[in-house]
Amino acid sequence: QTPRIETRSTQEWQAADARHFLHPFTDHKALAAKGARIIERADNIYLWDSNGQKILDAMSGLWCVNVGYGQRALIEAATRQMSELPFYNAFFQTATVPAIELAEALAAIAPPGFERVFYTCSGSEANDTIVRMVRRFWDIEGRPQRKKIIGRVNGYHGSTMAGASLGGMSAMHAQGGLPIPDIHHIQQPHWFELGRHVSREDFGLLAAGWLEARILELGPENVAAFIGEPVQGAGGVIVPPASYWPEIERICRRYDILLVSDEVICGFGRSGQWFGCETLGFTPDLIAFAKGVSSGYIPLGGVLVGERVARALVDEGGEFEHGFTYSGHPTACAVALANLRLLRQLNLPRQVGHETGPYLAEQFAALAAEHALVGEAQSCGLMGALQLVRDKATLAPFAAARAVGMLCRGHCFGNGLIMRAVGDRMIVAPPLVITRAQIDEMMALIRRCLDLTL
Ligand code: PLP
Repeated sequence: QTPRIETRSTQEWQAADARHFLHPFTDHKALAAKGARIIERADNIYLWDSNGQKILDAMSGLWCVNVGYGQRALIEAATRQMSELPFYNAFFQTATVPAIELAEALAAIAPPGFERVFYTCSGSEANDTIVRMVRRFWDIEGRPQRKKIIGRVNGYHGSTMAGASLGGMSAMHAQGGLPIPDIHHIQQPHWFELGRHVSREDFGLLAAGWLEARILELGPENVAAFIGEPVQGAGGVIVPPASYWPEIERICRRYDILLVSDEVICGFGRSGQWFGCETLGFTPDLIAFAKGVSSGYIPLGGVLVGERVARALVDEGGEFEHGFTYSGHPTACAVALANLRLLRQLNLPRQVGHETGPYLAEQFAALAAEHALVGEAQSCGLMGALQLVRDKATLAPFAAARAVGMLCRGHCFGNGLIMRAVGDRMIVAPPLVITRAQIDEMMALIRRCLDLTL
């Protein structure tokens, strides 16, 4: 290992952090009072902090380290590519080999009909690109009035102006004049919160019906696209009923509205197949991706473009006035290529779909059956949520969801586990390399943290 140039104590790092580093989504006064936890190294599914504590990372960083930490193939791919050609752009009729190879590899694993890729550096940029792309598509089609895009309450599509607008996070909308014009939202398919008076499957159809109602209200001739995550991730791992997505697809087709699947979390094996839309049973027109494409080792995102939109853009659209300096960054693409090879070599999408995903579901169900704090458990592949309740018999929600979330999170950190609190749901999304034995270890930690919260 290359020694760190400078070694300081945890307190010194925390002081420097508090003085200079503005963190994303952070209350800095609250952070300065505690001091940031300094994460120093990682291997497989574990992290070590600057005090030497070992932590099981049940969130894969931020839902992204799909192949786990310390994978030599990715590290070597970066080193090799950086030595050979660290950067060149894809503007002005040039391309690099890794960008071409990765595009080909993505087309090979994508659902049928997705042959083209547009690269970005992040999921937010991928969704910004989608806003521009769908509007450009309808311009080319001669229907420029189709500008409105419908997303969902509690959806998350990133933090740029367009990404945060497509998303339905009220706290984000409360700052900075969001959403931007022509973005609308419908309620999320959250059975536990909104649908317990009917069966899950009936609720799925009901929730999809909210899309049709909004389309009719806005006028179908004005609506460009609907965007959703197959399973809402940052909103709390809301797994929709099986009836939901096929009905959403039927509605989009009926009114000729483009269907966008935001696969930034669900993609690259997390749902138990390569893409979440395959697991949830629908075929979109556009797919946003990021995170798992490079397992977070290096920033990369993009848009997989389906046949219909690709044909219009490529054959009829002329120049699409859009792109980033780092669209198709060769080092990022080389790392992603090594990542996809490893995901395939380790057969991770299948392992998640047939072994570790079902095992997690079993363990979650057992916990929900017996633990006083857990009202229900939901999972899809290797993402799962525990719905905390105040009263198991009536399923009354926690009165002070946020406080409990914070308390529970405090216990998790203290006990060597990173999972996340979203309102009154505790969520996990561990690296896809997690084994059954490690799931047992994670479950034991979760139980301990819940017991401490009782
Ligand atoms: N879309 C989804 C579904 C996400 O979960 C995220 C990030 O968590 C994004 C988009 C934004 O991606 P990024 O943070 O890379 O901009």
